[in-house]
Amino acid sequence: MATERRVRVRFAPSPTGPLHMGGVRTALYNYLFARHHGGDFILRIEDTDSHRYVPGAEQYIIDSLKWCGITVDEGIEQGGPHAPYRQSERKEIYLKYALQLVESGHAYYAFDTPEALDTLRAGAEARGEAFSYNHKVREGLDTSLRLSPEEVKERIGRGDQWVIRFKMPENEEVHMNDLIRGDVTINTSTLDDKVLYKSADSLPTYHLANIVDDHLMEITHVIRGEEWLPSLPLHYLLYRAFGWSDTQPRFAHLPLLLKPTGKGKLSKRDGDKMGFPVFPLQWTSPEGEVSRGYREDGYFPEAFINMLALLGWNPGGEQEIFSMEELIRLFSLERVGKAGARFDPEKAKWFNAQYLRSKSDEELGALLLPILREHGVENCCIFLASKIAGLMKERAKFMNDFWDLTSYFFFAPQEYDEKVAAKYWKGDNPARIAELKEVLASVGDFTVENTEKATREWIEANGLSMGQIMNSLRLALVGAGKGPGMFDVCELLGKEETLARIDRALERLGK
Ligand code: GLU
Repeated sequence: MATERRVRVRFAPSPTGPLHMGGVRTALYNYLFARHHGGDFILRIEDTDSHRYVPGAEQYIIDSLKWCGITVDEGIEQGGPHAPYRQSERKEIYLKYALQLVESGHAYYAFDTPEALDTLRAGAEARGEAFSYNHKVREGLDTSLRLSPEEVKERIGRGDQWVIRFKMPENEEVHMNDLIRGDVTINTSTLDDKVLYKSADSLPTYHLANIVDDHLMEITHVIRGEEWLPSLPLHYLLYRAFGWSDTQPRFAHLPLLLKPTGKGKLSKRDGDKMGFPVFPLQWTSPEGEVSRGYREDGYFPEAFINMLALLGWNPGGEQEIFSMEELIRLFSLERVGKAGARFDPEKAKWFNAQYLRSKSDEELGALLLPILREHGVENCCIFLASKIAGLMKERAKFMNDFWDLTSYFFFAPQEYDEKVAAKYWKGDNPARIAELKEVLASVGDFTVENTEKATREWIEANGLSMGQIMNSLRLALVGAGKGPGMFDVCELLGKEETLARIDRALERLGK
């Protein structure tokens, strides 16, 4: 009986720039899958394409995963039984495997110079065809398929540059299975002979390094973006050529993330145009160009992750808010869709608002204190900050919204809303507010209950309108027509400040 292998998945980014939110989703689904099955999540850095290497990108990937709460079991920081986990440090490993394929007839040396390839490309273009390095052309080219073993040896010996290419079989149906897309079949005659290894930099290409490492690292499931689906036939054939088909991983290609319009792949430019981040953290390119990040835009990582988890995976049912633990418990590849998932920036904000509201007043108060300090409020205590945050949390989507929503607790109004003033600061109202000030002055313990009781009794005794009085009081204390309950405001301002603000309004707006 075959024993079940321990689930091992890997996230294998190339450090060619900041991690796009689609990349974070790939990492997340790998992580959820690994945790769900009690397996391992590996971070492997695929940096064999030295031309596309961007300094800082690797650290950015690590920092992004940390911020998201996606913990790595084996990787460049953690180490592990298959270290190193950075492909550039595994350089020596790959040549042996490339040569093994040459030996077994599944690959060959090609000595074509870049100029010769350019000529071939230009010729094909002139005939209105796209050039493909395939079974039709390879026999006539400068390869070990045509040259004698001595000639090959001699060319290598004299330092000619060479590559090793996969010898794609001719006219064979490759049957593949994808855990999301089901069975896929492709005829090999439509495929070209991909380069596996280059002598110029003694480095493998993505395809070779990826297959060799997935094999050596005992990867059981490859979960990656849809853009890699066209590489799947080659990867199947590479496993077969190495004789590793028995332990070949299962594959799952994730659907694309689509623009908010639903048409086309979500790109950085969409974010710039429509004002939302596409990167988890702010990124400054080596040229100094800054791209905004979810973190810097004030998203909670839990909200970002929750939103991302549902872009392509549908747990069924109405529930939308999921903690990481719940995601781990519920996640399955069967419920990942084939169709692209449309990104909705408004929904992302909605998720953040839900997470903000679910935090305790004390947690929010602690997050509010540094924001207050930034605005010059040094003397607010955690107790007051928590009360204010609790009072206003239904109205905020982001922590940064709090300043606009709460600044009047700390600074008396400098201006009074003209429209509100025209509506409520007229007739007897100012005189009534002056009377109300005396009523409030007589309240000993300035709690919501006491100020409310005193005010209501006075309004009733004088046959006044609650609406008129409360709106005038609001204008006096807050300077605007909206805000939380007035007695809450009174309590938080305290008696002295409440009375002072009434005086100030009477002075500025007229008695
Ligand atoms: N290095 C590839 C990338 O950048 C990995 C693709 C894969 O997961 O096989 O996406």
